[in-house]
Amino acid sequence: LMHLTKKLIEIRSMLLSIDQSDALKLPSIVVIGSQSSGKSSVLEAIVGHEFLPKGNNMVTRRPIELTLIHTPAKDGKIPQEYGEFPALGGGRLTNFADIQRTLTDLNLAVPASQAVSNEPIDLRIYSPNVPDLTLIDLPGYVQISSLDQPETLKEQISSLCDKYIREPNIILAVCAADVDLANSPALRASRKVDPLGLRTIGVITKMDLVPAEQGASILTGNRYPLHLGYVGVVAKGANKKSQKESLSLVAQRAEDDFFGSNREVFQRHPSLMIGTSTLRRRLMEVLESSMASSLHGITNAVQLELEEATYQFKVQYNDRRVTAESYVAETMDTLKGRFKDFTQQFRRPVIRAKLKAMLDEKVMDVLEQLYWLDKRAPELGQIAQDPKLKPEEVDPYWKHKLEAASSLLTKSGIGRDSTLLVADGLRALIDSIATGEPFTYHPRAAERLIQFSHMILRDRIGVTSDQVENCIKPYKYDVEVEPREWEAGRERAVELFENEVRLCEQKLGDIRKKVGGSRRLGNLIGYVKTLEEQQKEKAAKKLENIDGETAEPAEMPLESYRYPPAQLVDARYAMMYHDRIGILKLRLMALKSKRCRAGPQSEVFCPEAFLNVVADKLAYTSAMFINIELLDQFFYQFPREIDTRLLYDLDRKEIIEFARENPVVRRHLDLQERKDKLEEVMKQLNSLSTLRADPKPAPRRN
Ligand code: GDP
Repeated sequence: LMHLTKKLIEIRSMLLSIDQSDALKLPSIVVIGSQSSGKSSVLEAIVGHEFLPKGNNMVTRRPIELTLIHTPAKDGKIPQEYGEFPALGGGRLTNFADIQRTLTDLNLAVPASQAVSNEPIDLRIYSPNVPDLTLIDLPGYVQISSLDQPETLKEQISSLCDKYIREPNIILAVCAADVDLANSPALRASRKVDPLGLRTIGVITKMDLVPAEQGASILTGNRYPLHLGYVGVVAKGANKKSQKESLSLVAQRAEDDFFGSNREVFQRHPSLMIGTSTLRRRLMEVLESSMASSLHGITNAVQLELEEATYQFKVQYNDRRVTAESYVAETMDTLKGRFKDFTQQFRRPVIRAKLKAMLDEKVMDVLEQLYWLDKRAPELGQIAQDPKLKPEEVDPYWKHKLEAASSLLTKSGIGRDSTLLVADGLRALIDSIATGEPFTYHPRAAERLIQFSHMILRDRIGVTSDQVENCIKPYKYDVEVEPREWEAGRERAVELFENEVRLCEQKLGDIRKKVGGSRRLGNLIGYVKTLEEQQKEKAAKKLENIDGETAEPAEMPLESYRYPPAQLVDARYAMMYHDRIGILKLRLMALKSKRCRAGPQSEVFCPEAFLNVVADKLAYTSAMFINIELLDQFFYQFPREIDTRLLYDLDRKEIIEFARENPVVRRHLDLQERKDKLEEVMKQLNSLSTLRADPKPAPRRN
């Protein structure tokens, strides 16, 4: 039968970890008593060690769920005693002073303003000297509120005790022999919930402080009858510090001495229960029979919960199991997979096209700066159309221009710009992965992901841009152009220009629509031109009058505010696009001329074709070295960093934390765990059916 209680205590702990609902609770013994009634002394006498917090103001502030596990001797070897706080995960404490210190710390951690906390401390003690028992130590009832205790402390403790002394728990009411039972707060509380005294057991402490006759008469329980009876003890553990012997021995001796010297009194009532060992035995009997009678109800309740959990698991997850580990591994694989898909965007031809587009922009800037803004630009168009003019007869001015343009392009910091362009693409890719599912649930992992990928990028950018710059160096001095390259460059330039013309025409069209038609735009432009001329005249007049005293010339008789200012801005843009289209069209004519088609010797006439060839060469070379120095390195390093920095870095606890950050996975894990635990409890309960007499509950039908 011993076996039954032990099993049931195990089951009780498991049920407590499943949930705290009353339906799934096996009974425990709840210890209540007023301060100084000797409650701690009794508990320590049962355990055989001093381990509870002491001190003047050191009331127990949190319930202690004390589970005693009897560890029998094996092969003649007596196992070591130790305690454990499962919630703290600190392992075995073989020194009871350490247990006492931990309990003191946990109690003191409750802020003084709060005084009492409902959150229980789970303590397990394994020893060959303890019976299998579960005891709950509650804060002692306060008799007198002291000054530094909150007013409500008394009520707080009462309500905490009330919560624990509910069914099916057994109440251990500790009363001191030298205090009238009528005044015992423990008995009073017990009577409220157990008026017939069916599940209350009384412990009368300090039997040595009253005459033996008086003590014996208390134990008969005639005044306040309890079905489970009273046990009288002497549990004084005083002066134990000064002695080398263990507490149990000292206390035991004091108790034996007392009951021994009053033998004739107590033997007169053979049914009286006296002594700590009697108390232990009695508690075991009471707990066991109480647990046994709860068994039927608990088995039914667990069965019901298990059926519900099994059903939910089937319906919600189709019985698919997950583990935190599999979720983490899956997440990392998805991450790598997604990254790999995205790397398609970084294949060489794609990169080259991107770089070329960037360089085309630069070419346009150079052309605008050196040619389109040049007053002599139309000249270049004319000489291109002149079939008789030989290249060497062209004004050296244009040769000079071409060299300047080429150098402006090659020395514009291509290495850095092209590397940054690609690196930024990679950064944006990683950022988009890190901000997408499932990383929305894992902000810390996302941050690490971003951190280490940015670090790889930072490491590579310098080397790569230097390498690219180094490799395009030859183009800074001389660019050899093959006839085939020339023709390709010319065609691309034509394409580019035609595109640009289309773009400008589109913008022009948009403005026309916006201001209300081409007539209106014409008027606006005319007006802006007049304004500009006036301004010029005004400036000229100012110059003339610079020494004279003449006053400012009167404003021209022009209606101001004829048009809204925003439309004047539009008109100015329209003029700009118009001019640009004019130039582009002229240059297109040149690019399509025989002269330009002739080949690389015409480079002076067709700087656009030439610069396009240069840009293409630059893009090709940059793409090649960016590929080697940046992309290959990044693609190699990134998946490895995922493993080392995200995956292998996590210990078991962090893996679980990570998985539980995702609410979907958390719910899945919770339900799965609940089902597993209930299954285990059910299995244990069923295995008990061989140990107990009452029949197994009939299986439920759905
Ligand atoms: P608690 O406040 O209810 O936990 O009470 P304690 O266990 O701390 O005991 C209060 C005081 O009563 C302590 O000084 C104990 O030494 C003393 N005490 C406890 N049990 C006995 C006993 O059986 N006999 C005597 N004489 N003193 C006891």
